[in-house]
Amino acid sequence: MPISVIIVPCLADNYAYLIKCEETGHTSVVDVPDADPISYMLTKLGWKLNTILITHHHSDHIDGVDKLRKLTGAKVIGARSDAYRLPALDIPVVSGDIIKIGSHHSEILDTPGHTIGHISYYFRNAKKIFTGDSLMSLGCGRLFEGTHKVMWETLKTFLELPADTMVYSGHEYSNSNAKFAISVDPSNQRLKERYKEIQNLLKNGKYTVPTSLELEFLINPFLRSAQPEFKNKLNMGQKTDEEVFKFLRTQKDNF
Ligand code: ZN
Ligand code: FE
Repeated sequence: MPISVIIVPCLADNYAYLIKCEETGHTSVVDVPDADPISYMLTKLGWKLNTILITHHHSDHIDGVDKLRKLTGAKVIGARSDAYRLPALDIPVVSGDIIKIGSHHSEILDTPGHTIGHISYYFRNAKKIFTGDSLMSLGCGRLFEGTHKVMWETLKTFLELPADTMVYSGHEYSNSNAKFAISVDPSNQRLKERYKEIQNLLKNGKYTVPTSLELEFLINPFLRSAQPEFKNKLNMGQKTDEEVFKFLRTQKDNF
């Protein structure tokens, strides 16, 4: 049985995701930037929330947790290592833990770099990953706490996942990310096509998430830091993968 995902836009450019196991009805939400649009959507769909999955401690991902917990009685799951700065956790988790979401399983992946305690939720059988502010459509999160080395290790974790995995990230940043990607990879045809597609989606009030790892491997500059032909395009053929990533991340910070 599949899982259904409903995208709930919150605040200026955040996304929360409702995930429902169609077999059991078990429903989760990934991140709670704001309780109101999520509880509105739950009512509209007639879904009952069971669990809240937190990716990281930034306020635009957790501010609505306590209100939503009160409204729904949902259990809150988040990184044990960050428990001291997250809303009270009912189920603290560590990397490698597997949590049950109805008849589906979600693996906890440590994905630090944006913050030290950042985690992602990987549904291997359903081929979906919820990446918060670690991997994003055409981008990756800013390094608030981690080093370039730490974030590059995180990106390598994503590179190892099956290409047909769909990526659900925490923000709608595709347009500005695409502009940066084109600036460092102007001859990439697939990237230019995707940029047009993104503009059309946004113009029509649609979302640019999820994206597939398969596509990101071709157009996301950060994920491509280890690809020889891309390194050559940047005149960085002799540099290490991590140095290329650091160069790109620094360029983006100043873009
Ligand atoms: Zn964040
Ligand atoms: Fe964020």
